[in-house]
Amino acid sequence: MHLTHLECPRCGTEHDAGVPQNLCGCGSPLLARYDLAAVRRTVEPERFGLRPADLWRYRELLPVTEPAHVTTLGEGWTPMLRAPAYGAEIGVDELLVKDEGLTPTGSFKARGAAVGVSRARELGVQRIAMPTNGNAGAAWATYAARAGMGATIAMPLSAPTICRRECVAAGADLRLVDGLIGDAGRQVAALVAASAGSVFDAGTLREPYRLEGKKTMGYEIVEQLGWQVPDVIVYPTGGGVGLIGIHKALGELSELGWVEDKLPRLVAVQSTGCAPIVRAFAAGADRAEPWADAHTVAFGITVPAPLGDELILTALRATAGTAIAVDDAEFLADLRDFAAREGLLLCPEGAACLTAVRRLRAGGWIRAGERVVVLNTGAGLKYPDTVDVSGVPVLPA
Ligand SMILES: *Cc1c(COP(=O)(O)O)cnc(C)c1O
Ligand SMILES: [Zn+2]
Repeated sequence: MHLTHLECPRCGTEHDAGVPQNLCGCGSPLLARYDLAAVRRTVEPERFGLRPADLWRYRELLPVTEPAHVTTLGEGWTPMLRAPAYGAEIGVDELLVKDEGLTPTGSFKARGAAVGVSRARELGVQRIAMPTNGNAGAAWATYAARAGMGATIAMPLSAPTICRRECVAAGADLRLVDGLIGDAGRQVAALVAASAGSVFDAGTLREPYRLEGKKTMGYEIVEQLGWQVPDVIVYPTGGGVGLIGIHKALGELSELGWVEDKLPRLVAVQSTGCAPIVRAFAAGADRAEPWADAHTVAFGITVPAPLGDELILTALRATAGTAIAVDDAEFLADLRDFAAREGLLLCPEGAACLTAVRRLRAGGWIRAGERVVVLNTGAGLKYPDTVDVSGVPVLPA
């Protein structure tokens, strides 16, 4: 392992990576830093291809020292599917969907949970707590169970019942909150404060290693394209961890000299019912203002006040990317259209990305011939209500 320290991207302060850490004193999330020169001496990119098909193939660039602490259910190395029929319809010849729906617990949240729980275990944490919109709590409860660690998960009442069931099945201490994720966050903060250090706050970007798990999506995209970068990567943005992670991964690969200098343009996709990043990007602001009355069927991206707003906006601007909001009704129609043409049932967050691609291509922001990767961040099966079957005729017996 080549982890050296944690760094604050806002004020530059370095923090010890050998003990559990949350935010910097200035309030910013922390980023894990590695001795990349040592990584370059230790491993060549071709070696990864000879290793097992999971995210631990990138172990030199991950924060876990002891193999015994690795907590895994086989997460990572998800397929990059071509979507030629849908691509032709919208004028994007090289449209690729990275299907995170095949990840354990049915969403890419398992990547962050696998690495976050493994490192927390290595640092001696015995109980984690977090607020969640559903998928993260389900994933962390599941991996905590596998690590023999306790988990307290606070979730809005409106979160999908499947995520509640996953938490209960994993033996987690589940708290339902009659409010939004911010209200669940206040409950967790109170619990952690009263715990005298016995409960570790593992909320989104409040600890540095969930991001390390999610960044592996960036490594995989590049490795699966034969160590080439696509032109555009389109990501459904809630807390923004995946987007920040992909940006971090691309930066590391470029510093390692494993990819060309020109990085893909990153696109943050939100619902028109909750679009704080889109609004801040359009206003040229460095920070996002909280979104009032957030609502969308894409519950994974219902984050009215993301803690990583600065890092998201930096990633978009540094890559000449953009941010776009799409309508629930429109992306649910695209979800159906895509499933009928390509045979893959997307999650609504993934469908929102397709709508974004369609609109950005129509407006010329995505040019003809560009290679575009869309992240389908979860399994369509976790959202059974996105497809209306009320009109299906019932035959007499
Ligand atoms: C959490 C989640 C997102 C948003 O992920 P961030 O990295 O926090 O922006 C998108 N899609 C699904 C299915 C999710 O569960
Ligand atoms: Zn700081």
